Amino acid sequence: MAASTATDRGEFVVPLEFLRRKGGGTRASKAAAAAVPEPPPLPEEAVAQEHQLRLNFGAKTSAGVRLQGGPNILGALPSMLDGIAKGPVEVIEPRVTTLASASPSIIRTVEATEWLRAHGANSPVTRHALWVLETLDAIDPAYDTFACALLDGEVDTGGYPDYASVVGGVAAHWDESTGDLIVRGVVGWGGRGARGDTDRIAGRLLGRLLGSILESGESLGLTAVDRPGVVPGGASVTCQHCGYPAVHPRAVYCPKCGMRMRG
Ligand SMILES: [Zn+2]
Repeated sequence: MAASTATDRGEFVVPLEFLRRKGGGTRASKAAAAAVPEPPPLPEEAVAQEHQLRLNFGAKTSAGVRLQGGPNILGALPSMLDGIAKGPVEVIEPRVTTLASASPSIIRTVEATEWLRAHGANSPVTRHALWVLETLDAIDPAYDTFACALLDGEVDTGGYPDYASVVGGVAAHWDESTGDLIVRGVVGWGGRGARGDTDRIAGRLLGRLLGSILESGESLGLTAVDRPGVVPGGASVTCQHCGYPAVHPRAVYCPKCGMRMRG
């Protein structure tokens, strides 16, 4: 780095090559500058310690099963997990409309606060399931009623499922044209890790859930699940009963509360 060298007598000898290259400056000023130790060069690239986290999530949803609507039909959802759930079944009702921007994203504090207001009191299994399934858009808590449990694997000492555990259950919303309840199986898993057989286990559990819905007694058969309320162009109306703001303009029934739309 040294472009010049000091002699014993304090004189400075500046190499000719250096002077030629720099042009402009006088010999004296070059010598003065050289007397101050030069700072080490700025590195073009830092020696880095690498930090990385790979999260891996998966989910599967079944076709829908059309169930005859009725006042007690939602109450039958938990029993569809009989023999499949490995722990308590929790039913999560659709979120109230005032918490419309709730999201399980900790750095989006407004959304996270709403999410905690809606789900902070739910069990760790349920919160894990909602986090995974909402993030993957496998359920929509704005209108889905969700009966949820641990389906496979273990929980840690805090009650939270590990990455290889499978959570899920059945999710239901009301058909906008017929008022039937559309119920589908939903499973999800993931976190800090992945295991080879989780996908296969989840697929088998989804099949058992679908079978259980079909055998629930009110089944009118399989149906495609159309996301309710979505109109290209964005027009929608608000339910007069529950205030859900994203009802299809031609809907006869509200997908969230199942009540007949007026007007
Ligand atoms: Zn409604």
